[in-house]
Amino acid sequence: MMLPPGSTIGILGGGQLGRMTAMAAARLGYRTHVFATEPDAPAAQVAGAATIAPFGDAAAVARFAAAIDVATFEFENIPSAAVRQVAAERPVSPRPEILEITQDRLREKNFLREIGVATTDYREIADPGALAEAARELGVAAILKTVRLGYDGKGQVLVTAETETEEAWRQMGGTLGILECFVDFRCEISVVLARAADGAVAVYPPAENRHVNHILDTTIAPANLPSETAAEAEAIARQIAERLDLVGVLAVEMFVTKAGALLVNELAPRPHNSGHWTIDACLTSQFEQLVRAICGLPLGSTERHADAVMNNLIGHDVERWRETLDDPQAKLHLYGKTRVRPGRKMGHITRLLPRS
Ligand code: AMP
Repeated sequence: MMLPPGSTIGILGGGQLGRMTAMAAARLGYRTHVFATEPDAPAAQVAGAATIAPFGDAAAVARFAAAIDVATFEFENIPSAAVRQVAAERPVSPRPEILEITQDRLREKNFLREIGVATTDYREIADPGALAEAARELGVAAILKTVRLGYDGKGQVLVTAETETEEAWRQMGGTLGILECFVDFRCEISVVLARAADGAVAVYPPAENRHVNHILDTTIAPANLPSETAAEAEAIARQIAERLDLVGVLAVEMFVTKAGALLVNELAPRPHNSGHWTIDACLTSQFEQLVRAICGLPLGSTERHADAVMNNLIGHDVERWRETLDDPQAKLHLYGKTRVRPGRKMGHITRLLPRS
Protein backbone atom coordinates (compact mmCIF):
# COMPACT_ATOMS: atom_id res chain seq x y z
CA MET A 1 0.00 0.00 0.00
CA MET A 2 1.35 3.42 -0.94
CA LEU A 3 0.06 6.53 0.75
CA PRO A 4 0.76 9.49 -1.52
CA PRO A 5 1.99 12.91 -0.39
CA GLY A 6 -0.97 14.94 0.84
CA SER A 7 -2.02 12.09 3.17
CA THR A 8 -2.03 12.63 6.93
CA ILE A 9 0.43 10.88 9.21
CA GLY A 10 -0.69 10.57 12.83
CA ILE A 11 2.11 10.73 15.38
CA LEU A 12 1.42 9.42 18.88
CA GLY A 13 3.61 11.45 21.23
CA GLY A 14 4.53 15.10 21.23
CA GLY A 15 8.28 15.15 21.87
CA GLN A 16 11.28 16.10 19.76
CA LEU A 17 11.27 12.81 17.86
CA GLY A 18 7.74 13.55 16.71
CA ARG A 19 8.76 17.11 15.89
CA MET A 20 11.62 16.02 13.64
CA THR A 21 9.40 13.34 12.04
CA ALA A 22 6.73 15.96 11.31
CA MET A 23 9.35 18.25 9.75
CA ALA A 24 10.61 15.43 7.49
CA ALA A 25 7.02 14.56 6.58
CA ALA A 26 6.24 18.16 5.65
CA ARG A 27 9.23 18.28 3.30
CA LEU A 28 7.79 15.29 1.43
CA GLY A 29 4.37 16.93 1.20
CA TYR A 30 2.62 14.99 3.98
CA ARG A 31 0.38 16.47 6.62
CA THR A 32 0.85 15.49 10.25
CA HIS A 33 -1.50 15.25 13.19
CA VAL A 34 0.12 14.90 16.60
CA PHE A 35 -1.46 13.31 19.67
CA ALA A 36 0.20 14.90 22.70
CA THR A 37 -0.63 15.16 26.35
CA GLU A 38 0.59 18.75 26.74
CA PRO A 39 -0.41 21.81 24.76
CA ASP A 40 2.54 23.44 22.99
CA ALA A 41 4.39 20.09 22.86
CA PRO A 42 7.50 20.19 20.60
CA ALA A 43 5.82 18.10 17.88
CA ALA A 44 2.46 19.89 18.11
CA GLN A 45 4.23 23.20 17.39
CA VAL A 46 5.20 22.06 13.88
CA ALA A 47 2.28 19.77 12.95
CA GLY A 48 -0.75 20.82 10.94
CA ALA A 49 -3.10 19.54 13.61
CA ALA A 50 -2.90 18.30 17.18
CA THR A 51 -5.12 16.45 19.61
CA ILE A 52 -4.19 17.33 23.18
CA ALA A 53 -5.54 14.79 25.65
CA PRO A 54 -4.40 11.98 27.94
CA PHE A 55 -3.69 8.71 26.12
CA GLY A 56 -6.44 7.14 28.20
CA ASP A 57 -9.11 9.42 26.66
CA ALA A 58 -10.75 6.94 24.29
CA ALA A 59 -12.98 9.57 22.64
CA ALA A 60 -9.94 11.74 21.84
CA VAL A 61 -8.04 8.72 20.51
CA ALA A 62 -11.06 7.89 18.29
CA ARG A 63 -11.14 11.47 16.92
CA PHE A 64 -7.42 11.29 16.23
CA ALA A 65 -7.75 7.95 14.41
CA ALA A 66 -10.61 9.32 12.28
CA ALA A 67 -8.46 12.29 11.20
CA ILE A 68 -5.40 10.38 9.93
CA ASP A 69 -4.44 7.88 7.21
CA VAL A 70 -1.59 6.07 8.99
CA ALA A 71 -0.09 6.27 12.47
CA THR A 72 3.26 5.85 14.14
CA PHE A 73 4.57 6.56 17.65
CA GLU A 74 7.54 8.55 18.83
CA PHE A 75 8.21 7.16 22.29
CA GLU A 76 7.93 3.77 23.90
CA ASN A 77 5.88 4.54 26.93
CA ILE A 78 2.62 5.24 25.10
CA PRO A 79 -0.02 3.01 26.71
CA SER A 80 -0.50 0.13 24.36
CA ALA A 81 -4.30 0.32 24.72
CA ALA A 82 -4.25 3.67 22.89
CA VAL A 83 -2.05 2.27 20.13
CA ARG A 84 -4.29 -0.81 19.80
CA GLN A 85 -7.35 1.44 19.58
CA VAL A 86 -5.81 3.42 16.72
CA ALA A 87 -4.69 0.17 15.04
CA ALA A 88 -8.30 -1.06 14.98
CA GLU A 89 -9.13 1.90 12.71
CA ARG A 90 -5.97 2.71 10.77
CA PRO A 91 -2.66 1.07 9.85
CA VAL A 92 -0.08 1.56 12.63
CA SER A 93 3.62 1.09 11.88
CA PRO A 94 5.62 -0.35 13.55
CA ARG A 95 2.89 -2.82 14.51
CA PRO A 96 1.67 -2.49 18.14
CA GLU A 97 3.09 -5.80 19.30
CA ILE A 98 6.61 -4.49 18.62
CA LEU A 99 5.91 -1.57 20.92
CA GLU A 100 4.64 -3.98 23.58
CA ILE A 101 7.80 -6.09 23.37
CA THR A 102 10.09 -3.08 23.69
CA GLN A 103 8.06 -1.51 26.52
CA ASP A 104 8.99 -4.41 28.71
CA ARG A 105 12.69 -5.07 29.36
CA LEU A 106 11.99 -8.70 30.23
CA ARG A 107 9.94 -9.44 27.11
CA GLU A 108 12.57 -7.62 25.06
CA LYS A 109 15.47 -9.65 26.44
CA ASN A 110 13.48 -12.91 26.23
CA PHE A 111 12.73 -12.14 22.58
CA LEU A 112 16.42 -11.48 21.89
CA ARG A 113 17.39 -14.73 23.58
CA GLU A 114 14.78 -16.67 21.59
CA ILE A 115 16.16 -15.41 18.29
CA GLY A 116 19.73 -16.14 19.36
CA VAL A 117 20.98 -12.58 19.89
CA ALA A 118 23.49 -12.21 22.74
CA THR A 119 22.64 -10.02 25.73
CA THR A 120 24.16 -9.75 29.17
CA ASP A 121 22.93 -12.51 31.51
CA TYR A 122 19.74 -11.55 33.39
CA ARG A 123 17.03 -12.77 35.73
CA GLU A 124 13.44 -11.77 36.37
CA ILE A 125 13.03 -10.22 39.82
CA ALA A 126 9.55 -10.43 41.31
CA ASP A 127 10.47 -9.70 44.96
CA PRO A 128 13.47 -8.92 47.21
CA GLY A 129 14.05 -12.65 47.85
CA ALA A 130 14.45 -13.27 44.12
CA LEU A 131 16.93 -10.39 44.01
CA ALA A 132 19.15 -11.91 46.69
CA GLU A 133 19.11 -15.28 44.92
CA ALA A 134 19.75 -13.79 41.44
CA ALA A 135 22.63 -11.67 42.78
CA ARG A 136 24.21 -14.87 44.14
CA GLU A 137 23.71 -16.69 40.84
CA LEU A 138 24.80 -13.91 38.49
CA GLY A 139 27.45 -12.40 40.75
CA VAL A 140 28.00 -8.73 41.37
CA ALA A 141 28.22 -6.07 40.18
CA ALA A 142 24.80 -6.19 38.58
CA ILE A 143 22.15 -3.65 37.65
CA LEU A 144 18.57 -3.86 38.85
CA LYS A 145 16.13 -2.19 36.44
CA THR A 146 12.37 -1.76 36.39
CA VAL A 147 10.85 -3.91 33.66
CA ARG A 148 8.53 -1.11 32.56
CA LEU A 149 8.64 2.66 32.27
CA GLY A 150 12.34 3.14 32.85
CA TYR A 151 14.43 5.39 30.61
CA ASP A 152 17.60 7.46 30.79
CA GLY A 153 18.72 5.52 33.87
CA LYS A 154 15.48 6.07 35.81
CA GLY A 155 14.50 3.07 37.90
CA GLN A 156 18.05 1.62 37.85
CA VAL A 157 20.10 0.57 40.87
CA LEU A 158 23.65 -0.75 40.94
CA VAL A 159 23.85 -3.93 43.02
CA THR A 160 27.21 -4.69 44.65
CA ALA A 161 28.38 -7.01 47.44
CA GLU A 162 27.42 -4.31 49.97
CA THR A 163 23.91 -3.78 48.64
CA GLU A 164 20.94 -4.43 50.93
CA THR A 165 18.50 -6.27 48.67
CA GLU A 166 15.37 -4.91 50.34
CA GLU A 167 16.70 -1.36 49.98
CA ALA A 168 17.73 -1.84 46.32
CA TRP A 169 14.32 -3.29 45.51
CA ARG A 170 12.62 -0.29 47.11
CA GLN A 171 14.92 2.20 45.29
CA MET A 172 14.16 0.54 41.97
CA GLY A 173 10.47 1.19 42.60
CA GLY A 174 9.33 -2.02 44.27
CA THR A 175 7.78 -3.41 41.09
CA LEU A 176 8.66 -6.21 38.68
CA GLY A 177 12.35 -5.88 37.84
CA ILE A 178 15.19 -7.45 35.91
CA LEU A 179 18.69 -8.00 37.27
CA GLU A 180 21.40 -7.75 34.62
CA CYS A 181 25.08 -8.60 34.92
CA PHE A 182 27.14 -5.42 34.83
CA VAL A 183 28.97 -5.19 31.51
CA ASP A 184 32.47 -3.77 31.77
CA PHE A 185 32.23 -2.45 28.23
CA ARG A 186 34.83 -0.91 25.96
CA CYS A 187 32.19 1.34 24.43
CA GLU A 188 28.49 1.62 23.68
CA ILE A 189 27.22 1.71 20.11
CA SER A 190 23.91 1.81 18.32
CA VAL A 191 22.74 0.79 14.89
CA VAL A 192 19.79 2.66 13.38
CA LEU A 193 18.01 1.16 10.40
CA ALA A 194 14.81 1.50 8.44
CA ARG A 195 12.78 -1.40 7.09
CA ALA A 196 10.03 -1.21 4.48
CA ALA A 197 6.95 -3.43 4.17
CA ASP A 198 8.54 -5.32 1.27
CA GLY A 199 11.48 -6.26 3.52
CA ALA A 200 13.97 -3.75 2.08
CA VAL A 201 16.40 -2.52 4.75
CA ALA A 202 18.52 0.64 4.82
CA VAL A 203 21.09 0.70 7.61
CA TYR A 204 23.30 3.49 8.96
CA PRO A 205 26.79 2.66 10.20
CA PRO A 206 27.14 1.97 13.94
CA ALA A 207 27.65 5.12 15.99
CA GLU A 208 29.40 5.36 19.35
CA ASN A 209 27.35 6.74 22.25
CA ARG A 210 28.74 8.34 25.38
CA HIS A 211 26.41 8.86 28.33
CA VAL A 212 26.66 11.27 31.24
CA ASN A 213 24.41 10.55 34.24
CA HIS A 214 22.75 7.78 32.17
CA ILE A 215 21.64 10.30 29.53
CA LEU A 216 23.08 10.31 26.04
CA ASP A 217 25.60 13.14 25.82
CA THR A 218 27.59 12.54 22.63
CA THR A 219 27.23 10.40 19.51
CA ILE A 220 30.25 9.88 17.28
CA ALA A 221 29.35 8.68 13.81
CA PRO A 222 30.59 6.39 12.54
CA ALA A 223 31.96 4.54 15.59
CA ASN A 224 35.65 3.72 15.44
CA LEU A 225 35.34 -0.08 15.25
CA PRO A 226 37.13 -2.89 13.44
CA SER A 227 35.24 -3.44 10.17
CA GLU A 228 34.20 -6.99 11.22
CA THR A 229 32.64 -5.64 14.43
CA ALA A 230 30.76 -2.95 12.50
CA ALA A 231 29.50 -5.55 10.02
CA GLU A 232 28.44 -7.87 12.84
CA ALA A 233 26.55 -5.03 14.57
CA GLU A 234 24.70 -4.24 11.36
CA ALA A 235 23.86 -7.92 10.82
CA ILE A 236 22.45 -8.20 14.37
CA ALA A 237 20.26 -5.12 13.86
CA ARG A 238 18.97 -6.47 10.53
CA GLN A 239 18.19 -9.83 12.07
CA ILE A 240 16.21 -8.18 14.87
CA ALA A 241 14.24 -5.99 12.45
CA GLU A 242 13.40 -8.99 10.30
CA ARG A 243 12.35 -11.18 13.20
CA LEU A 244 10.16 -8.36 14.54
CA ASP A 245 8.73 -7.90 11.03
CA LEU A 246 9.29 -4.21 11.62
CA VAL A 247 8.04 -1.51 9.25
CA GLY A 248 9.60 1.76 10.32
CA VAL A 249 12.82 2.70 12.08
CA LEU A 250 14.63 0.63 14.70
CA ALA A 251 17.56 1.54 16.93
CA VAL A 252 19.56 -1.26 18.52
CA GLU A 253 21.80 -0.25 21.42
CA MET A 254 24.74 -2.56 22.09
CA PHE A 255 27.74 -2.89 24.36
CA VAL A 256 31.12 -3.69 22.82
CA THR A 257 32.90 -5.76 25.48
CA LYS A 258 36.60 -5.52 26.22
CA ALA A 259 36.99 -8.78 24.26
CA GLY A 260 35.25 -7.21 21.24
CA ALA A 261 31.96 -9.13 21.56
CA LEU A 262 28.59 -7.45 21.03
CA LEU A 263 25.78 -7.63 23.59
CA VAL A 264 22.44 -6.01 22.80
CA ASN A 265 21.19 -3.76 25.61
CA GLU A 266 18.01 -2.15 24.31
CA LEU A 267 15.73 -1.78 21.31
CA ALA A 268 13.79 1.33 20.29
CA PRO A 269 11.27 0.87 17.44
CA ARG A 270 11.40 4.55 16.47
CA PRO A 271 13.89 7.22 15.48
CA HIS A 272 16.58 7.48 18.14
CA ASN A 273 18.64 10.21 19.71
CA SER A 274 21.79 8.48 18.44
CA GLY A 275 20.48 8.87 14.86
CA HIS A 276 20.04 12.65 14.92
CA TRP A 277 23.37 13.08 13.14
CA THR A 278 21.77 11.57 10.00
CA ILE A 279 19.74 14.79 9.47
CA ASP A 280 22.84 16.80 8.62
CA ALA A 281 25.34 14.16 7.52
CA CYS A 282 23.37 11.70 5.36
CA LEU A 283 21.42 11.85 2.11
CA THR A 284 18.32 10.62 3.94
CA SER A 285 17.69 11.19 7.66
CA GLN A 286 16.26 8.60 10.03
CA PHE A 287 13.08 10.72 10.19
CA GLU A 288 12.61 10.76 6.43
CA GLN A 289 13.20 6.99 6.40
CA LEU A 290 10.37 6.56 8.91
CA VAL A 291 8.01 8.60 6.73
CA ARG A 292 9.04 6.64 3.64
CA ALA A 293 8.69 3.27 5.38
CA ILE A 294 5.24 3.86 6.89
CA CYS A 295 3.87 5.48 3.72
CA GLY A 296 5.08 2.65 1.48
CA LEU A 297 7.63 4.77 -0.40
CA PRO A 298 11.03 3.35 -1.32
CA LEU A 299 13.64 3.86 1.41
CA GLY A 300 16.26 6.55 0.79
CA SER A 301 20.02 6.21 0.57
CA THR A 302 21.81 6.16 3.93
CA GLU A 303 25.03 7.37 2.32
CA ARG A 304 26.80 9.98 4.43
CA HIS A 305 28.54 12.99 2.97
CA ALA A 306 30.31 13.75 6.26
CA ASP A 307 31.26 12.15 9.54
CA ALA A 308 29.58 13.74 12.52
CA VAL A 309 29.69 14.37 16.24
CA MET A 310 26.34 15.08 17.89
CA ASN A 311 26.08 16.69 21.31
CA ASN A 312 22.82 16.87 23.19
CA LEU A 313 21.90 20.15 24.82
CA ILE A 314 20.67 18.93 28.19
CA GLY A 315 19.03 21.31 30.67
CA HIS A 316 20.94 24.59 30.90
CA ASP A 317 23.38 23.53 28.13
CA VAL A 318 20.79 25.05 25.84
CA GLU A 319 22.03 28.49 26.84
CA ARG A 320 25.06 27.78 24.58
CA TRP A 321 22.83 27.95 21.51
CA ARG A 322 24.03 31.40 20.43
CA GLU A 323 27.75 30.56 20.27
CA THR A 324 27.18 27.49 18.08
CA LEU A 325 25.80 29.74 15.37
CA ASP A 326 29.31 31.17 14.87
CA ASP A 327 30.76 27.73 14.11
CA PRO A 328 30.35 27.01 10.38
CA GLN A 329 30.57 23.23 10.94
CA ALA A 330 27.90 23.18 13.65
CA LYS A 331 24.21 22.65 12.94
CA LEU A 332 21.90 23.74 15.74
CA HIS A 333 18.58 22.01 16.47
CA LEU A 334 16.28 23.34 19.19
CA TYR A 335 13.11 21.58 20.23
CA GLY A 336 10.93 24.53 21.21
CA LYS A 337 10.74 23.57 24.88
CA THR A 338 10.11 26.65 26.95
CA ARG A 339 10.81 25.18 30.40
CA VAL A 340 14.39 24.16 31.17
CA ARG A 341 14.67 21.25 33.60
CA PRO A 342 17.82 19.41 34.69
CA GLY A 343 18.23 16.32 32.49
CA ARG A 344 15.71 17.55 29.91
CA LYS A 345 16.74 17.25 26.26
CA MET A 346 16.36 20.80 24.94
CA GLY A 347 18.15 20.47 21.60
CA HIS A 348 21.29 19.12 19.95
CA ILE A 349 24.24 20.26 17.89
CA THR A 350 25.73 18.23 15.06
CA ARG A 351 29.26 19.08 13.95
CA LEU A 352 30.29 17.82 10.53
CA LEU A 353 33.78 16.44 9.91
CA PRO A 354 35.47 15.24 6.72
CA ARG A 355 34.37 11.70 5.85
CA SER A 356 36.73 9.00 7.08
P1 AMP B 1 19.39 1.62 29.63
O1 AMP B 1 18.28 2.40 30.26
O2 AMP B 1 19.25 0.15 29.74
O3 AMP B 1 19.69 2.08 28.23
O4 AMP B 1 20.68 2.02 30.46
C1 AMP B 1 21.22 3.32 30.44
C2 AMP B 1 22.73 3.26 30.49
O5 AMP B 1 23.16 2.60 31.69
C3 AMP B 1 23.34 2.44 29.36
O6 AMP B 1 23.48 3.19 28.19
C4 AMP B 1 24.68 2.07 30.00
O7 AMP B 1 25.58 3.15 29.96
C5 AMP B 1 24.31 1.80 31.43
N1 AMP B 1 23.96 0.36 31.59
C6 AMP B 1 22.73 -0.18 31.44
N2 AMP B 1 22.77 -1.52 31.60
C7 AMP B 1 24.05 -1.84 31.85
C8 AMP B 1 24.74 -3.08 32.13
N3 AMP B 1 24.09 -4.26 32.18
N4 AMP B 1 26.08 -3.03 32.33
C9 AMP B 1 26.74 -1.84 32.29
N5 AMP B 1 26.15 -0.66 32.06
C10 AMP B 1 24.83 -0.63 31.85
